[in-house]
Amino acid sequence: MLEGCVARPADEVARYRASGYWAGEPLGAALRRWAAQYEDRVALVGAEHRITYSELDSWVDRLASGLRGLGIGAGDRVVIQLPNVPEFVAVCFSLFRVGAVPVFALPAHRSHELRHLCEISQAIAHVVPGRQPGFDYLGLSASLREQVPSVRLTLVAGDPGTDRASDVIGLDELPAGAAVSARTTRTTAGGEGEPDPADVAFFLLSGGTTALPKLIPRTHDDYGYQIRATAEVCGVGPDTVYLAVLPVEFNFTWGCPGILGVLHSGGTVVFAPDPSPEECFGLIAKEGVTLTSVVPTIAHLWMDEAEHSRPDLTSLRCLQIGSAKLHREVAERVGPVLGCSLQQVFGMAEGLLTMTRADDPAEVVLGTQGRPVSPADEIRVVDPVTGAQVAPGEVGELITRGPYTLRGYYRAPEHNSKAFTHDGFFRSGDLVRVTPRGDLVVEGRVKDVVIRGGDKVSATELEGHLIGHPHVGQAAVVAVPHPILGEAICACVIPDGTPPRLGQLKRMLRSAGVADFKLPDLLEIYDAFPLTGLRKVDKKALAADARRRQSKRYSGGLHEG
Ligand code: AMP
Repeated sequence: MLEGCVARPADEVARYRASGYWAGEPLGAALRRWAAQYEDRVALVGAEHRITYSELDSWVDRLASGLRGLGIGAGDRVVIQLPNVPEFVAVCFSLFRVGAVPVFALPAHRSHELRHLCEISQAIAHVVPGRQPGFDYLGLSASLREQVPSVRLTLVAGDPGTDRASDVIGLDELPAGAAVSARTTRTTAGGEGEPDPADVAFFLLSGGTTALPKLIPRTHDDYGYQIRATAEVCGVGPDTVYLAVLPVEFNFTWGCPGILGVLHSGGTVVFAPDPSPEECFGLIAKEGVTLTSVVPTIAHLWMDEAEHSRPDLTSLRCLQIGSAKLHREVAERVGPVLGCSLQQVFGMAEGLLTMTRADDPAEVVLGTQGRPVSPADEIRVVDPVTGAQVAPGEVGELITRGPYTLRGYYRAPEHNSKAFTHDGFFRSGDLVRVTPRGDLVVEGRVKDVVIRGGDKVSATELEGHLIGHPHVGQAAVVAVPHPILGEAICACVIPDGTPPRLGQLKRMLRSAGVADFKLPDLLEIYDAFPLTGLRKVDKKALAADARRRQSKRYSGGLHEG
C-alpha cells in the first residue's frame, strides 16, 4: 500500500477476497467494463452536455494520456476541488487510470484547509474550476503553488484565462502523452501492470474531531464493494436517474450508492449546480430523476418550498436523507409532501453505512437509521470510557470494523492509536443504540464536533483560531440546536479586555483563510467556563448554558454580528 497507509491483516484480506466482497478490480478498469456494457446509454448530464458511457470512457482515456504527458503517474497525489460537474468524474477516473490518487477537497475549502491537504498529501497538482463569478479558485491555486513546494501544477476544468503562468493548464489543452489504459498502468511499487486493487484509489476527508481534516484512504477494492452493496440495497438499476445535489466530494454523493453506484448499474447521473429547490425541482422534472440524497436541512427547505409551489416531482421514487440527525417531524413530512419514499442513511467517510430498507415498516423508516449495508460489517456498542460492551439496547459508542471501513488514517500514527481499538475497530465517536430488530438509532456523540446542516466542524480547530484574536482569552465551541440547520455553531469566549463582537471574529477567521461553513453563528461571552472534575471545560454543561441563554434571548433564528 501507499506509504503512510495502514495495511489490513492478511487473514482479513484473504477472507474479504474469498467471500467476493473484494472483487480485485481497479476502478479505472471498472469504468471500461461499464462502458462496454452500457455503451450509448447516458452516463452523465451536466449543464451543457449529455455524455454516454462510451464517450465518458474515451474522455477519461484522453485525459489520462494528457496527465501522463505531464508526468503525473502512479502514486502521485492530486487535490481535486471542483463543483458538481461531469469533469469531476472524468478527472477522477483519469487519475485512477494512471494510478494517481485524487484527494477530495470541498469547493467551500479555502487556503487554510487547502494548504493542509496539499502539505499532508504532498500533492503535485490542484484541480480547480475555470474563471467564474463568486470565488477566484485560480488565485487560490496560485498561492498554493507558492506556499507548498510539492504543488507544481494547476489543472483547470473550464476557462483558465489568457493571462496565466505556464504551470496553469486547461484540461482541454492537456498534451498528448503515452497511450494509457487501465491495463498499462504502473503499480505504486513501481513495476508495470495494473494498479493494485488493494491500494488507495482516492482520499476522502474526515469530518473529524482533530484540528484539521484527516485523510481517509479508500481502496479500489473497498469502495468497489461499497458501491455494489449500496446499489443493491437501494435497488439501483439502468432506469435510475440520480441527482447529485450535495457536493460530489462527499462520500454520500460519490458512493452511497451515489455517482459511482449509479454508473456501476448503468443509470444516469445528473449534476445539480446548487441544492436550491428552484434548481433541483426543475432538474427532477426535466430529467425524470428517481433518486437523490440530501442532508436534513435541504430536505426541510425542499419540503417548505414544495408545500407552496407544488412542483412536479412524480418521477422521484426515493429521497435518501443522512449525514446529520433527521428529526421525526421532518421524516414524517417526506412522503406526504414530496410524494416519494424516505430512506434514512447513517454513515461516515471512514466506511460503515447503515440504511433503512424499502420494505421496512414505517416505524423503522421514520424512527431509525437502519441496518448495516453489508453482512460483514461488524458493529459493537461500547462504554466510551471503559470500552466494555453495553447491554443490548443500551446507548454506547459505536465501534466498527468491516470490508469497507478503514484501518487507519493517512500519515497519522498517533491519532490512529486512539481512533482504533487494538483489534482494528474504528471508534466512530457516535452514541447509538441498536433496536431488538437490529436497526441503529443515533442518540448523540462523544466527539467534539458541531454538525451544522450536514457539515462537520471540529470544535478544536475553531477554538485554535479563535484564541488568535487579541480580545479572546479562552474559547470553547459548542453546538446549539437550530430549527433549520439542526445545530448552530456557538463560540463561547472569555474575553481578554473588551469583549469581541461576532462580526470581528468572523472577519478574522475569513482572513485566516477558513472556510465559511466553519464560521460561528453565535457568540456568548463568559467570565468563567464550567469545569469537569478533571479541570477541563465541561462542554456538556457549557452547551446547555449557551442553549439556555440563546432561547432566553431569541425566539428562533440566528443573530448576525
Ligand atoms: P462524514 O464522514 O462527514 O459523513 O460524517 C460522519 C458523521 O456524520 C457520523 O460519524 C455521524 O456523527 C454523522 N452522521 C452521519 N449520518 C448521520 C445520521 N443519519 N444521523 C446522525 N448523524 C449522522
